[in-house]
Amino acid sequence: MYTCRDCNQSFSTELALELHHDKCEKGQLFCESCGGRFSERVATRDGWHYRCPDEDCDGEGLGDDIVRIEDIKAATQ
Ligand SMILES: [Zn+2]
Ligand SMILES: [Zn+2]
Repeated sequence: MYTCRDCNQSFSTELALELHHDKCEKGQLFCESCGGRFSERVATRDGWHYRCPDEDCDGEGLGDDIVRIEDIKAATQ
């Protein structure tokens, strides 16, 4: 069983989970510093300053350490 860390939905295959990740509303941000995924909601309070929710990680700044999954995909296409 594969479980989405962001929304806790479970999937029977790794592929299904990967596909889900692409559209999971709760994991649209990615921290390049620690590789974590999380939702916009937990990364920012004011919609301006973004910070990695992982306490051990000091990644911050949308466009710097924190990027949108869709932007990564757009850049690699
Ligand atoms: Zn999810
Ligand atoms: Zn991080």
